[in-house]
Amino acid sequence: MKDNYGRIINYMRISVTDRCNLRCAYCMPDEGIENIGHDHILSFENIERIVKASVDLGIKKFRITGGEPLVRKGIVELVRKISQIDGVEELAMTTNGILLSKYAEDLKKAGLDRVNISLDSLNHTKYNKITRGGDLNEAFAGINAAVNAGLTPVKINVVAMKGFNDNEIIDFVQLTYQHPYEIRFIELMPVGHANAEQYGVITVDEIKEKLPALRPANQNEGVAEIFKYPGAKGTLGFISPLSRHFCGDCNKIRLTADGKLKPCLLSNAEIDLNEVLNQGNDEKLKDVIKDVILNKDEKHHLDEGAAPIERDMNKIGG
Ligand code: SAM
Ligand code: SF4
Repeated sequence: MKDNYGRIINYMRISVTDRCNLRCAYCMPDEGIENIGHDHILSFENIERIVKASVDLGIKKFRITGGEPLVRKGIVELVRKISQIDGVEELAMTTNGILLSKYAEDLKKAGLDRVNISLDSLNHTKYNKITRGGDLNEAFAGINAAVNAGLTPVKINVVAMKGFNDNEIIDFVQLTYQHPYEIRFIELMPVGHANAEQYGVITVDEIKEKLPALRPANQNEGVAEIFKYPGAKGTLGFISPLSRHFCGDCNKIRLTADGKLKPCLLSNAEIDLNEVLNQGNDEKLKDVIKDVILNKDEKHHLDEGAAPIERDMNKIGG
């Protein structure tokens, strides 16, 4: 359905947990987080109810995220349940990939279409540092498992950070000569824990300056601008939520693991679905979701000095 600004809202990102097996420095505090209690995490049944209501409102694409979605118990079963709902046309997942070598094949069989995998460094020591303990070999094993299982095209998310990975841009570009990945550089956003971090933002324009002779490639539907080097198997994507906001093309809403709908990632607004879920009235649930879509803000106001986002990304579902 369309919102009040004429945008077609057809995409929902579902966070299935706030827990994670890594502690990326810009996403979570070192000591970990106070987890949402099990009682407050949406049940699979309630997630299914929300997906069914959303499909009726014209949402067709769903992405499962977190926290780390693969640490949620029964995740393959949840993928199966969602993929079998009539009207779900595309089901993807964003993951750090650490557990993908274990789950990729089962996820594909359960109906997952593809994955985005987060990988902020190609250097073992730096990867271990930014994730506070992650093993780059495991992330690569996950990427390979995703390719072998057909969870393709694999997209790789790289959060660009000044003083951390700005000297690795060319190394990431090299990967697109060897593999048909879409490597997506994402601007660091002032969300949750990133507000307290030391790393600086590199804008998409600053990255592009390091990359002469980029050629625009076929644009897909998402928010990334896509480019390619001649002869490369893969592509490069640039996502600039801050320097050039794409609010005019926004097509999504987000569901947090504790049952709040967020009309915009970069706003503190959230609408609690728990009350209407507890009432057991799915027509009313649909009305609430419809209202959230209709009242989505025209744009975020972070660049105009709005308050930073309080929830950490692991609690929103990036
Ligand atoms: N754990 C999974 C993962 O890392 O892919 C899914 C959840 S994670 C919150 C989703 C994405 O958000 C990741 O690609 C992560 O790098 C990104 N992210 C987290 N905090 C961010 C921030 N402050 N700015 C930009 N991207 C961020
Ligand atoms: Fe975990 Fe993903 Fe956040 Fe890293 S970015 S701490 S992998 S939720």
